[in-house]
Amino acid sequence: MDDSKFTLLRRQMIRDQLEPRGINDPAVLEAFSKVPRHLFVAEENRHLAYRDHPLPIGEEQTISQPYIVALMTQSLELQGHEKVLEIGTGSGYQSAILAELTEHVYTVERIEKLSLQAREVHSLLGYKNISYKIGDGAAGWPEESPFDGILVTAAAAEVPPLLLEQLRPGGRMVIPVGDRLLQDLLLITKEETGINVHKLCGCRFVPLIT
Ligand code: SAH
Repeated sequence: MDDSKFTLLRRQMIRDQLEPRGINDPAVLEAFSKVPRHLFVAEENRHLAYRDHPLPIGEEQTISQPYIVALMTQSLELQGHEKVLEIGTGSGYQSAILAELTEHVYTVERIEKLSLQAREVHSLLGYKNISYKIGDGAAGWPEESPFDGILVTAAAAEVPPLLLEQLRPGGRMVIPVGDRLLQDLLLITKEETGINVHKLCGCRFVPLIT
């Protein structure tokens, strides 16, 4: 498949999977039209990259379904100046989408091989506003905190307290919370007085391993 074919598949993904389900932030849609999702999966899966489901990325991990990446991203309501922390770099696709939309992305991954692969794709694509860390994302990235947005792309039994601590008041966190099979995708907003929790949808992510 050549580039023009992938560009077409990307447009169809936006038209058929994202827009009808309420992804309507123009900046988010623009990011999805730019980032070549097929480069974040193995060669043999490239023809499947724009389909409406997750895909394996090796090491028993997955790249999320495009709609879920879009919903999580849109829920952060980024304006362009934020510091965003992502837990679970995985393929690096979500980090690239975030890097299109905000000033700086900090991404943590526990599997070194995935982190290194993601860095390679990002550098090929020219991203300069992503920082990487290998380790347990449940501990966050205290040296760079507070964050305006935190996006967790692996499922936790409960919201890791250190991540809540590292969220700036007024900041937003999106995180799947539940058991191994089924979780709720939660949008958490931190106020001076406490936190608000809003359920976005049911979901199924790989586990956050701590
Ligand atoms: N955002 C990724 C999705 C990756 S799947 C993408 O766009 O492709 C979730 C990732 O979380 C996996 O790569 C897994 O290794 C990682 N992960 C699981 N537990 C973790 C932890 N405690 N700290 C950091 N990363 C973790």
